[in-house]
Amino acid sequence: MLIRKLFKFEGAHIVRNCSSHRCRENIHGHSYIVEVFITSDKLDRGYMVMDFVLLNKVKELVDSFDHTYSLWQEESDELKSFIYKYNRRVAEIPVSPSAEGYALLFFYLIDKILRNTEYKNGEGNVQLSSVRVHETATGYAEAFQEDLKLVNFNVHDICFSEAIREEWKDKQWWEEIRN
Ligand SMILES: [Zn+2]
Repeated sequence: MLIRKLFKFEGAHIVRNCSSHRCRENIHGHSYIVEVFITSDKLDRGYMVMDFVLLNKVKELVDSFDHTYSLWQEESDELKSFIYKYNRRVAEIPVSPSAEGYALLFFYLIDKILRNTEYKNGEGNVQLSSVRVHETATGYAEAFQEDLKLVNFNVHDICFSEAIREEWKDKQWWEEIRN
């Protein structure tokens, strides 16, 4: 059975090397919608795949990108210095922040969160099926497990600035998935 939970964030970026001059040469933003699809072979005692309350860490992850500049690690030192000087909320990431990049990054991290979640209500084999990231009202990118071969992520290459980390309600979640 499949369930879906929707999250939102307002994010800023530049998408280098894309075809559109507007996207690759200007800092700009989008109202993102992130859909998380989860499957299971069994229902828990509440007749649910899993209670959405168990997705609090996923909410924390997506919210970390809200009013945040997503800074690709391959950017120049000059741009990095500028971004860190004039922004408090910065997520430094190992992938260019295209909708595809976000979908892959979120899949990678949400999969880790679900694997670290303690299921205590008779849940079955809870699996992340896909993550869909809508950058505009008309387009989205969707990442599945096999798509992670397109990238080479290491959780230690992802860095949230102090201003993001200090707003986390649960300060432990990030350390838990980095171990
Ligand atoms: Zn854009």
